[in-house]
Amino acid sequence: MTDVQRIIAQNIGRIRERIAEAANRAGRSAANIRMVAVTKYASVDATRQLALSGLKELGESRPQQLWEKATALSDENIHWHLVGHLQRNKVPRTIPLVHLIHSIDNLKLMEQLSYEGSKQNTTVAGLLEVNISGDKEKHGFYPKELASAIEAAANFSHLEIHGLMAMAHREGGIEVARKDFAAVRELRDRLANNAPDGVSLSELSLGMSGDFEEAILEGATILRVGRALFDGVEY
Ligand SMILES: *Cc1c(COP(=O)(O)O)cnc(C)c1O
Repeated sequence: MTDVQRIIAQNIGRIRERIAEAANRAGRSAANIRMVAVTKYASVDATRQLALSGLKELGESRPQQLWEKATALSDENIHWHLVGHLQRNKVPRTIPLVHLIHSIDNLKLMEQLSYEGSKQNTTVAGLLEVNISGDKEKHGFYPKELASAIEAAANFSHLEIHGLMAMAHREGGIEVARKDFAAVRELRDRLANNAPDGVSLSELSLGMSGDFEEAILEGATILRVGRALFDGVEY
């Protein structure tokens, strides 16, 4: 085992312990919480180390980087997640490579995903991104736009919505993050009552390296962890 492998394996172990402790505090089973390893800062080699350490759910925020790594690591049996903004012209190349798109943030993109899904004879799985912080630089539906986005989703035959994704405010630390995550969960609970057939809101993709414990306490089912996996590694 190389030093890099050893450090990454230790980091994974430590993160899994923290997930288990937070799940325990929340009265939840850690088995219901998936971790997507976000590799956007990592080289192809460092990314391969994650896969060799047993992490097979990997995420990228830029479509081109996802294409590149998915191609370079096609022998590793990885499920790729796109967690960043997707432009419509990048939909055709992304669909065949991606397992779940966390960042569906506008109606035209939904329409394009369904259209291209039908052309490629597949159903695209995704989450609706919520701009919970209200930051104008961030992507995502504003909370008041979500109900109509969900209505629209029901009409796209080759797009399957499984839940919501959000990022906490950049500032304010973990207390603000926890409030943001609670707000997403409440929004989800409210919308789930009237969700049309074919739209599920069961998944909540919340929490990154700095705030995944707060996300677990507020009901996250998917965590997106990047930096914490590479602590102490040059990558
Ligand atoms: C980079 C990124 C992450 C991971 O962030 P870390 O702080 O490195 O854990 C999660 N989600 C999205 C959308 C990202 O862009």
